Amino acid sequence: MRSNILAFALGIGILQVQERLPAGVVVAGLLLAVPPLFWFARRGFLAARAMPALACALLGFCWATLLAEHRLQDQLPGEWEGRDVQVVGVVAALPHAFERGERFEFVVEAVETPGAELPRRILLSWYHGGLEDEWRERLAIRPAERWRFTVRLKRPHGNANPHGFDYEAWLFERALRATGYVRPRAVAQRVDDFVVRPGYAIERLRDRIRRSFAEVLGEAPYLGVLTALAVGDQQAIPAEQWRLFRQTGVVHLMSISGLHVTMVAALFAGLVGWSWRCSERLMLFLPAPKAAIAAGWLAALAYSLLAGFAVPTQRTLYMLSVVALALWSGRNLGASRSLLLALLLVLLLDPWAVLAPGFWLSFAAVGLLFFVGTARLGAARGWRTALASWGATQWAVTVGTLPLLLLLFQQFSLVSPLANALAIPLVSFVVTPLALLFVVCPWPPLLHFDHWLLSGLLGFLEWLAGWPVWEQPAPPPAATLLAVFGVIWLLLPRGFPARWLGLCLLLPAVFWPAERPEPGDAWVDVLDVGQGLAVVVRTREHTLLYDTGPLYSAESDAGQRIIVPYLRAHGVKRIDTLIVTHRDKDHSGGIVAVEEAVPIGSRLSSVPELQPERCVDGQTWQWDSVRFVILHPAADDYERHAAKTNNMSCVLQIQTVSGSVLLTSDIEARDEQALLARGTPRLPSDVLLVPHHGSGTSSTPEFIAAVGAREVIIPVGYRNRFQHPRADVVDRYAGSRVWRTDRDGAVRLRLAGGGLSLSSYRMQYRRYWHGR
Ligand SMILES: [Zn+2]
Repeated sequence: MRSNILAFALGIGILQVQERLPAGVVVAGLLLAVPPLFWFARRGFLAARAMPALACALLGFCWATLLAEHRLQDQLPGEWEGRDVQVVGVVAALPHAFERGERFEFVVEAVETPGAELPRRILLSWYHGGLEDEWRERLAIRPAERWRFTVRLKRPHGNANPHGFDYEAWLFERALRATGYVRPRAVAQRVDDFVVRPGYAIERLRDRIRRSFAEVLGEAPYLGVLTALAVGDQQAIPAEQWRLFRQTGVVHLMSISGLHVTMVAALFAGLVGWSWRCSERLMLFLPAPKAAIAAGWLAALAYSLLAGFAVPTQRTLYMLSVVALALWSGRNLGASRSLLLALLLVLLLDPWAVLAPGFWLSFAAVGLLFFVGTARLGAARGWRTALASWGATQWAVTVGTLPLLLLLFQQFSLVSPLANALAIPLVSFVVTPLALLFVVCPWPPLLHFDHWLLSGLLGFLEWLAGWPVWEQPAPPPAATLLAVFGVIWLLLPRGFPARWLGLCLLLPAVFWPAERPEPGDAWVDVLDVGQGLAVVVRTREHTLLYDTGPLYSAESDAGQRIIVPYLRAHGVKRIDTLIVTHRDKDHSGGIVAVEEAVPIGSRLSSVPELQPERCVDGQTWQWDSVRFVILHPAADDYERHAAKTNNMSCVLQIQTVSGSVLLTSDIEARDEQALLARGTPRLPSDVLLVPHHGSGTSSTPEFIAAVGAREVIIPVGYRNRFQHPRADVVDRYAGSRVWRTDRDGAVRLRLAGGGLSLSSYRMQYRRYWHGR
C-alpha cells in the first residue's frame, strides 16, 4: 500500500511540473492502460510487484490533470482584461487592510455587463486614497456582505525570478483566477448585509473576533501577532516583526499553521485525556484515550475553521483526521502508514498541495514528531519523561526541517534551536490557547496578560537576533535529497549503529559553494521587479547592484521581496558597489531592505542624500578584467537638471572581451542626444537596456542606431498604468531581439567564453498555469 500511495503522489508531482497539460486523448490512453497493469500484476507476470505502483502513478497523473483542466477553464477571457465590468457578489473572506485600502476575496454571483465573462472567484483591491482623484468616503466592508461593484480585472500575473515566489501558483492553488480593483467614482453599493452560508458565517465570526482584539488592545505593538495566532490573519503582522521572526528561525510559528493546529490538537487531547482519567464514571462511558482523540480532533477542526480554513490548515486537518481515525479504530496502522494515508487524502482533494513549501514543512514536522515517537498520546508520564520528550521534539523539528529550510529560504538561524526551545512551547501551549480562550470568554485582562507574555518573548527574540544567521546559496536538489536521508538516519531510534554518519550527509547541502563567473566574464541579471528596475552584475570576485526596484506599499518593496532573496540564493554576501541611478521610487524603493540585508562597499548615485560619491561621465574602474564606465550624467548636469530626476539617471556600460552591455535606466530623448554629442564611439554595445521602460519620451532612432545592440531588454510591469512600453517604441527595435520582463520574467545575460548568451526565467521555468 505504501509504495502505491507514494507512486500516486509521484504521478501528481510529475503533472505539477509540466509546461502544459496533456491532451485529452493522452489522458484517456493512460487511463486505459491502468486495468491491464493490475491484471498483469495478478497473473504474476514479469515485474508483477512494480505494476500496481505504475498504475497508481498513472492514476495520480490523470487525476491531477482532470482537476487542473477544470480549474483552468474558469478564467478571465483575454478580451475582458482591463475593461470595466459591473458585478454582484459576496465578500468571501476576511478583508486585509493595506496602506491605501483593503484587499479581499470576492465570489462573483452575477455579471451585469452584457457579454462579459468572469471567473467565479477573484481577488479585489479597493483603494481608499493615494491619488487625489481616487479618494472616496471609506465604506466599511465585512465578510459575507453582498456588493455591487464596477471592477477592472487582469489575469493572474506574478513576478518571475529564480528562487522567487510563484504568485501565480499561489493564486491558482486558491482558485483565485483573476485579480483587479474596484473602480473609483463608479457603482459601489451594499446589496445585502449578510448572505447566509456556513462558510460566510465563519468569516464574519473571524471578522468580529479580529475587531474585538483590536478594541481591547488598541495600538499595542503585537496585536497583529495575536490576531494571526487566533484567526490566522498573518497579514496583520508588520514587516519588521516578520524580519525578527526570520532572523531567529521562528517564522513557522506565525506562518505555517500546520504545526500550530497539530500542537493545539495535541494540547486539547492531552488535557481532556488527563482530566478524563480522574473520573471513573467518564472512563466507563468512554476510555480516556478515545476521549482524548475526539477532543484533539474537534479542537483541530474548530481551530482550522477559525484560522480561515486556509489551504495549509485544511491540509493539516485532513492529515490529523487520518491519524485520529487510525488511533480511534485501534488499528495499529503504524506511523508511516497513517501519514501516507493522510498524504493520499490531501492529494485527492487538493493535488496542488505538492507545490506548497508550507505543506512539506508541516508534513515533515508532523512526520518527524511521529518518527521520534513523541506523538503517542498520553505516553509521557511524569515531568522527567515529559521534559525528555520535549527535548526530543525540539531536536527533531529543528534538525529535521533544516534541509527544507535551506532549500526553500537559504537561511538557517544559528540561534534557532534556542529561540524555538522557548517560542514553540510558549506560543503553542500558552499564548495561542490564551488568545483562543479570549475568543470564548472575552475578558479583557486575559488578552492584556497574553500580550504581556508575548512582548516578553519578543524581547528575548530581539536579543537573539543580534546573533549570527547561517546563510548560504540554495543547494542543488541532489544535495538536498542527500540531506533528507542524512536527517532520517540521524533521527533513527537509539541503538541504531553510527547515527552520527547522518551528519556527514548534511555537509554537501550546508557547504555547497556559490557559482561565480570566470575571471574576465560578467553575469548580468535583469530581475523582474514589475514596473521598475533592478540589475545584478557579478564578476569573479565582485557584485554590483544597479537600482533597487520599486516600492510596492508601505510594507513591501522589491528589495525585501525579490532582490535580497535573489542575492541570498546565489550566495552573494556583499555588494561592492550600489548604484541608485535616480530618485524615482521605481528605482530606489528597495534600498532600505538591501542595506539592512547585506554590507555595501561603495555607492554611486545622482541623488544628493545617497551619495558619498556622485556618478559622473568619465568614471571608470576595473574588476576581475571587466571594465565599468559611467557615461551619464555630465558634471554640469548637476547644476542644470538637478530637479528633473529622469535626466539625472546614471548610465553604466560594462565591457568584457565577450561583449558589452549598456544600462540606461530612465534617460530621455535629450539625454540620448547629449550622450551622442559627447562621443558616439563610446556607445556601441551588444546588449541595451531600453531607456525609461520603453516610454515614448526616449529611444530616439539616432540613439538606437548608434548603440546598434543585437539584443534589447525592456524592464516593464505587466499591464502597468503608464502603458509602457509604447508599441511604436518597440517597433523601433525591430532589428534586435526584444526581451520584456513582463512577458519573459527575469532575463539572464552571460558574457562568457568569448560570446554572449541570453535566457529568460519564464523560458526555463514554465508551468501550465502561467499566464492563464
Ligand atoms: Zn523608471
